[in-house]
Amino acid sequence: MPCDTNHTQSLEINQLFGIDPNEIQFPSIGFKTITKDKFGHQVILLQGYAPFNETKCPSCGGENMIKHGTSVATIRLLETNGYKTALRATKQRVLCKGCQHTALP
Ligand SMILES: [Zn+2]
Repeated sequence: MPCDTNHTQSLEINQLFGIDPNEIQFPSIGFKTITKDKFGHQVILLQGYAPFNETKCPSCGGENMIKHGTSVATIRLLETNGYKTALRATKQRVLCKGCQHTALP
């Protein structure tokens, strides 16, 4: 897998998402694009997603959870071959039908 994250970056991802960064999955093609940041610098953007796990509501324990949009976090990584590199990870949000609590399982 061409995305190597060091320990510090893994911690950042973990704090943002509350997930194990080792769980972030990348599609087999098209996960790497070259884009530009707001300063016009080229950035290699790696796009992955966290797997969706069926879960119980952390608030009321209900099991009637529905998908409720996604959260996206972009984390800057170390430069790769002189290019700025960023990881954009998408995570499914869920909504509890019982108590309306939202969560990132
Ligand atoms: Zn609930």
